[in-house]
Amino acid sequence: MGMGRVRRAKIVATLGPSSNTVEMIEKLIKAGINVARVNMSHGTHEAHAQLISNIRQASKNLGREIAILIDLQGPKIRTDKLPNGLQLEKGQTWVIGPSSKQEDYPEYKDCYIPTIYEKLVDDCHDGARILFDDGKLIAKATTRDRDVYKIEVIVGGELKSNKGINLPDCEVSAPAFTEKDEADLMFALKHNIDYIALSFVRKKEDIQTVKALLHKLKVRVPIVSKIEKPQALDNIEEILDITDVIMVARGDMGVEVGNHLVPSIQKELIQKCNDRMIPVITATQMLESMTDAPTPTRAEASDVANAIWDGTDAVMLSGESASGMYPVETVTMMSNIIYEAEKTPKERPLLRNIDLSSVNSSVMVAASMIAEKVEAKRILAVTEGGNSCRKVSMFRPQTPVAGVTHNLRTARRICLYWGVYPYLVEEEVQDTGSYVKYIVNHAKEKMGLFNGDKIVVTLGDGKIFSKGYSNSVKVEIIKQAKHHEESGEEPFDIAEDKKKRILLDHNICSTCQNCVSICPHEIWQADKKTKLTKLNKDNIKHCTLDYECIRVCPTGAIEIIEKS
Ligand code: PGA
Ligand code: MN
Repeated sequence: MGMGRVRRAKIVATLGPSSNTVEMIEKLIKAGINVARVNMSHGTHEAHAQLISNIRQASKNLGREIAILIDLQGPKIRTDKLPNGLQLEKGQTWVIGPSSKQEDYPEYKDCYIPTIYEKLVDDCHDGARILFDDGKLIAKATTRDRDVYKIEVIVGGELKSNKGINLPDCEVSAPAFTEKDEADLMFALKHNIDYIALSFVRKKEDIQTVKALLHKLKVRVPIVSKIEKPQALDNIEEILDITDVIMVARGDMGVEVGNHLVPSIQKELIQKCNDRMIPVITATQMLESMTDAPTPTRAEASDVANAIWDGTDAVMLSGESASGMYPVETVTMMSNIIYEAEKTPKERPLLRNIDLSSVNSSVMVAASMIAEKVEAKRILAVTEGGNSCRKVSMFRPQTPVAGVTHNLRTARRICLYWGVYPYLVEEEVQDTGSYVKYIVNHAKEKMGLFNGDKIVVTLGDGKIFSKGYSNSVKVEIIKQAKHHEESGEEPFDIAEDKKKRILLDHNICSTCQNCVSICPHEIWQADKKTKLTKLNKDNIKHCTLDYECIRVCPTGAIEIIEKS
C-alpha cells in the first residue's frame, strides 16, 4: 500500500475462461481486484485447481495478496440437457418433470420439460409460478398428473439446456448444502481457500450445517451467505446472527421477488450489515453491458456508485470478468467509479448502532478517531486473525488501515474488508514495545511515509486479553533514524548538564510554537521572516532541563540527546 490514492470499497471478481491465466490474473490484480471468486456452478475440479494455482502464482509474482472465494452452487434447479431448444408459446400447456421419469410418459413426449431436480413436482402446487432462464420465460403450474406437473406458459420464448428454474412461490425442499456442494467444499478446503459462499440460504440451519462440518474438520473458513430467496429475507435476523459475511445476490433475488424490489432490499440489507459489523458484498450485473462493450451504461455506473453510497464493503463482477471480452477494462472502470463515489462519502455507520461493548471494538474505534484528529497517514492494526481489522473497517475510518500480520491466511482474509489492506510481515508479536519499533521501521521503508508523518498503531499484548484482541493504541511519528547528521541542525550544549545537548529537527517541527510559549527563558523563538522555530543560542545557558518544551511539542521535534 503506497501513498497514492487509496480505494476503500473492495472488488470481488469472478474468474473464468476470459481471465484464468497467470498473465491475465496479474493484470486484474494490478487493475484492482481484491478477491477472486471461483464459481463452482461451472467447470471441473481439475480446472478449478488450475485456476486456484494460477491465482496464487499471479499474486506471488506481484507480491500482492488477494483472497479466494469459492462459491458453492447450492440447490440451483435447472433444465436438463435438451437436444434442441424448446419453443414455449404464450397460452400453451407443457409438462415439467424429472428427467428420470421422461420415458414413463410417452403421451407427453412432445411437451416434456425435463429437470435435474427430482423433487420439483412434490414441491410445486397449483397456481405456483415457474420461472425459466433468469425469469425470461414465465409459466404457471396448473394441475399435477402423477409424477409431472402441467404448466401454462404466460411469457414464452426459447428454452435451452441447463437453464435455471426458479420457484418463488414454493418451499423448495432440497437442502441448501447439497451433495455436490459437500464434495466441492472438501475440494476447496484442500486448496486453502479463504472464503466459502453458500447459495440460496434460507434459514440459520443452512449455515449451521456447514459450520458444524467445518468445526468437525477443525478448519475455520468464514462463510458468505448469499441472500437470494424470499425466505432468507423473512429469516434475515437469525441469518445475520451466525453468518460471517453477506452477499446481496441480486440475480436470483431479482428473479424471485421482482427487480422492482431489489434496490430497497439492497439498501436494507447493507444497513443491517453495517449496524452489525458484518461485511457485505453487493453482486450481479453491476457492469453487465461490459461483458461485450468497452464502456458501461450510465445506469450501471450509477448502480456501482449507489452501492458504495449505500455502504457496501465490496462490489462484485460475475460474467463481466469471467467470460466477458473486457475483464481488465471492467475492473479498471469499477475501481474508478468507486474511487469517484468515495470522494463524497455517505455518513459513516452511527456509533450508537455499533456494538462497542468489547474492548477490541472500542479500541479500534478510538484508534480511528485519534488517527483522524491527528491527521495520521496510516493506522497500522496489528492482527492475528483479522478480527481487529474487521472491527476498525466497520467504523469506516477516514485513515487507510494496514492490517499488519505474520499470518498469511489472515492477510488474505483482510482483502475483503473495507478500507483495510494487508501488510504481511515476518515477525510475530513477542514483546509489544519492540514490535511497535519493528513495524514502524517497516512502514518507514515500505509505505512511502515521510519524516513527521504520524501513524497510529493498535495491538494486543496477548496477556490480559487473549491473542487476537487489541487493547492498546499508540501514536508514532516517523523520524529518520540518522536525522542528527542529516538534518543539518546543530545540537547545542546545555550548560546545566555538560553531557547533554538539545536539538530541534526542522523536518518534523510543525511550527506550532508551543515551545516558544512555554519556555520562560526564551530559549525558543519564531523567526520573524520564515516563521520557523529556532533555538536562541544566547539563551541556551538558562536551560534548566525541565523538559517542558519536549512535553508540549506535538511532533517530537525537540530532543535532548547525550553528547557523544
Ligand atoms: P450466482 O449468484 O451468480 O451464483 O447465481 C449471484 C446472484 O444470484 O446474484
Ligand atoms: Mn444466485
